[in-house]
Amino acid sequence: MTRLTSTRLADGRELIYFDDAGSPERDPGSLTDHRELPPRADPGELRYDALSGEWVAVAAHRQGRTHLPPADQCPICPTTPANPSEIPAPDYDVVVFENRFPSLGPAVGTIPGTPAWGTAGPAYGRCEVVSFTPSHTGSFAELGETRARTVIEAWAHRTEALSALPGIQQVFPFENRGADIGVTLHHPHGQIYAYPYVTPRAASLGAAASRHFDNSKGRESLTSSILKAERQDGSRMVLEGEHFSAYVPFAARWPLEVHLVPHRQVPDLAALSGEERDELAHVYLELLKRMDALYPTPTPYISAWHQAPLDAALRPSGHLHLQLTSPRRAADKLKYLAGSEAAMGAFINDTTPESVAERLRAVASHSQRAIPEGAPA
Ligand SMILES: [Zn+2]
Repeated sequence: MTRLTSTRLADGRELIYFDDAGSPERDPGSLTDHRELPPRADPGELRYDALSGEWVAVAAHRQGRTHLPPADQCPICPTTPANPSEIPAPDYDVVVFENRFPSLGPAVGTIPGTPAWGTAGPAYGRCEVVSFTPSHTGSFAELGETRARTVIEAWAHRTEALSALPGIQQVFPFENRGADIGVTLHHPHGQIYAYPYVTPRAASLGAAASRHFDNSKGRESLTSSILKAERQDGSRMVLEGEHFSAYVPFAARWPLEVHLVPHRQVPDLAALSGEERDELAHVYLELLKRMDALYPTPTPYISAWHQAPLDAALRPSGHLHLQLTSPRRAADKLKYLAGSEAAMGAFINDTTPESVAERLRAVASHSQRAIPEGAPA
């Protein structure tokens, strides 16, 4: 079992060590942050865009945040005498802590329910950093299954805890990988945002999911129905397991896009069983390895966990899934969101989903079968 140890940093932020199964007891010395830190800033501002009906976080205070620091000043490497980092321990496995420069929070609360032009309020919510490894270099794909399993445990734990905070409407674990995606720290890490509203993308996916769920009288989620259709068709399947399958979606928007879906309709990562989490560690690593096997250099990506919003109208039809996307369209070419996509939200994809799926099948990792078939391997 993953072992959790919770503590507070010098400015009061929460930090939780998630140590791998079988790791030694944590030294009490790693619980005390000896730095002197200024008090935490008040939340930024949340403004309502009456034209689109969407909230915008105005977080000008984040301009001073750390940007691509040299390796010896990395804020998420373990602490050394020369680099008193955010993590006051000489070593760790996985650690989650509140972002020092959050877009949302640290205060939580309820935002105005009937906003109009001119409505603004504190940017309530929470932003956490998830460090996947004490090692400054490398990537998630290289973590190994035990460590990946610990990260999944951390995601599930934080999903449950953040969902219980006052006013939180959606919990979003994600990873931006690669400077091309705008990463400001090279150390392998992800983030978790807890929003006080349902994000625009979740609202549009949630509306489609609700319609389908209601039309089927609550018998089937939209994601289950699409998964079934993709498995029957087969041309876009990337891998199939006992509990999870991955495919390039029929109408993929990005040059590289894969959806990883649990076969059982669960709202979020916290609802996955132990067996499902075990398989997820395996198939997620396999997918990331395949993304990196497509080209001679690592592929930048955004790994986005779509969890059911906490909104009572949207939650019953929600079905957890991962959307793994990359703007890479050739070894040396990236797709930029320009006029049609950025201004109109109308995507034009220069690759066919079927050819991308074929390439992702062709680069299956050969050291290990993608999915253990039949009896345990
Ligand atoms: Zn580092």
